[in-house]
Amino acid sequence: MAGLIERYSDRLPFAAGDPIISLDEGSTPLLYACELSERLGVEVWLKIEGANPTGSFKDRGMTCAVSGAVRDGSTAVVCASTGNTAASAAAYAARAGITCAVIVPDGKIARGKLAQAVMHGARVIGLRGNFDEALRLVRELSANHPIALVNSVNPLRIEGQKTAAFELIEALGPERPLDALAIPVGNAGNITAYWKGFTESSDQLERLPRMLGFQAAGAAPLVLGHPVEQPETLASAIRIGDPARGEEALSAVAESGGAINSVTDEQILEAYSFLASRDGVFCEPSSAASVAGLIVHGVPEGVERIVCALTGHGLKDPETAIEVGGEIIACEPELAAVEAAVWG
Ligand SMILES: *Cc1c(COP(=O)(O)O)cnc(C)c1O
Repeated sequence: MAGLIERYSDRLPFAAGDPIISLDEGSTPLLYACELSERLGVEVWLKIEGANPTGSFKDRGMTCAVSGAVRDGSTAVVCASTGNTAASAAAYAARAGITCAVIVPDGKIARGKLAQAVMHGARVIGLRGNFDEALRLVRELSANHPIALVNSVNPLRIEGQKTAAFELIEALGPERPLDALAIPVGNAGNITAYWKGFTESSDQLERLPRMLGFQAAGAAPLVLGHPVEQPETLASAIRIGDPARGEEALSAVAESGGAINSVTDEQILEAYSFLASRDGVFCEPSSAASVAGLIVHGVPEGVERIVCALTGHGLKDPETAIEVGGEIIACEPELAAVEAAVWG
């Protein structure tokens, strides 16, 4: 399967002959969730964005942002990150043969993401500060130096990420499109991108899905209506107090007749475990905020078919999984002991 820029060349701002930096991202599975559908009483589909090359949807935006940087002659890229942007930028920069620097909140990103960033050869900078401070600093840095900023404030990130909406429409068909999209919201680039993709696919607003955004309760500036100074949640990918694309997210929600709500860490973990143990899908905690939101706040009236964006792979954050998952049963190397251990 070709990468996104090739597949959607007519709907992305690249010309024939432009350099393309791709890892064959996109074309991710759209999986019917039997158990979750049963629990919610509607048809629920899961867009498995953890199946992208570096394990998160960030790759959709990164193929475009890094290709654009190379086209414009940049030899280095930089980003602030809660983890997945760093992993993705590092991989695409390695592929392009350019330098990558990532600034992450020190000690606050999931281990798998850190492993990716260091293996792909990025300069990983652990900031004694949070994501919002990191983003402010990289914006200043890229304004003063010839280094391309690949956070979702870069319009090419939004362009690439809008292709997830195209894939949903292709998969579900124009006859019976989805009624709503449930999605976690951090810096609010992804909800902005999906809405752009949907609106570019149809000019009949009433046929477009409602955008249901969910933030973690300890990092819910768009629900509270003001920035959060010290955002806190175990869903580290959405631990953001002052979303760069907050205004656009609120417009998308208003135009689509959707809503932004919050869910607690406890509710996120319940949804995270349910998906893994009942529907067989292992996503990271932040991704499960979309599912938790539907469970806690309910499915809006008139919505029969819904897609949850599962933004990142569960293996990104092994520590949370091992903490939340079942215990390991110690066992002597004898048949009787193994029998007792297997059957309880
Ligand atoms: C980046 C990220 C989000 C949040 O996306 P935004 O565009 O920042 O709103 C959600 N889940 C995961 C796994 C992410 O990596």
